[in-house]
Amino acid sequence: MKILTIVGARPQFIKAAVVSRNLEKYLGIKEYILHTGQNYDNNMSSIFFEEMDIPKPHFHLNIHGGGHGVMTGKMLEGIEQKIQELNPAAVLVYGDTNSTLAGALAAKKLHKKVVHVEAGLRSFNMRMPEEINRIITDRISDVLFCPTTTAINNLKQEGFDNFHSEIVLSGDVMQDAVLFYQDKASQISHIVDNLQLQPNGFILTTIHRAENTDNVARLTAIINGLNTVHRTILPVILPLHPRTRQIIEKNGIDIHFTIIDPVGYFDMLQLIMNATLICTDSGGLQKEAYFCNKYCVTLRDETEWIELVEGGYNRLAGSESERIIEAVTDYIKTPFPPKVELYGGGLAGEIICHHLSQLIDSEVYAV
Ligand code: UDP
Repeated sequence: MKILTIVGARPQFIKAAVVSRNLEKYLGIKEYILHTGQNYDNNMSSIFFEEMDIPKPHFHLNIHGGGHGVMTGKMLEGIEQKIQELNPAAVLVYGDTNSTLAGALAAKKLHKKVVHVEAGLRSFNMRMPEEINRIITDRISDVLFCPTTTAINNLKQEGFDNFHSEIVLSGDVMQDAVLFYQDKASQISHIVDNLQLQPNGFILTTIHRAENTDNVARLTAIINGLNTVHRTILPVILPLHPRTRQIIEKNGIDIHFTIIDPVGYFDMLQLIMNATLICTDSGGLQKEAYFCNKYCVTLRDETEWIELVEGGYNRLAGSESERIIEAVTDYIKTPFPPKVELYGGGLAGEIICHHLSQLIDSEVYAV
């Protein structure tokens, strides 16, 4: 029985690594991986396959750049062709990128079962391309694996009880990834020493979301806030997304803290585990901060991971310099609160694969 997994962007490699590793235990299932090419630099793509032992993609479409329409359209065409060639029983998509949307759309129109991992998340901000991708992907998915009860409630609010889809609370595959790789990362990565950082003595930041990078005023305010944090509170380090770098350089925005190229997953885990706290607009990093007992200052006006905000682990600071500085100042003098199990405890990969194997054994999924 064949399953086609669609990946293309950095967070999808990390999520797919977890499911792929668990799928191998189910002997009747053969996974094929299609890489759209959405992220393509070595340090945004192949390093994740190498470090996390993800099987080499069977198909590589090499599609990147262009506007959303061009990129998604080309992916749709390429994925459709591969689905026709392979004739899989189901197509697995992850998260909320253009690769997710193109994979789900192509599969659904060819009457394939669509399985969405990380379903049900909502920011309620329809200006985010990710929000549009999520809503459409969820609506046409046959099986929706949700990381949290918040995600399940979002789907119920949208009337999913009336649709012919199956909703499963799986927990979050990114927690599985942290638990599985953190010891290996500690052994292999020397990034903290190499960058001469003090354990628990620096702030890790990432910025890549369009709402921040495509608005020079917002981006400048965030960088100015982080410049002040660096000067007056603790050193700041930023592995810089290539798109953000381009915009910073084009607009001559002054950065007074350390910037480095994007790093692989092991280096990133080491940076997270050794940081004092995290400032980010990344979805994945907000949870990784929590998994590693670090506060997160979120550089956005809303988040899909509201349980972190409600639990006091995460604060929305938006893009205003003052709010960022205030949140960092408060957090560094406050002990990290006791934790509850918000994301399933590391069993998501197993739950997803077990469920898939049962579906695939059933008549409905027979090709
Ligand atoms: N990440 C990484 N190297 C970096 C920056 C991020 O390995 O230089 C990891 C990060 O730890 C998380 C994932 O990439 O696991 C998040 O990806 P990203 O922020 O690009 O996407 P989002 O989670 O916002 O969809």
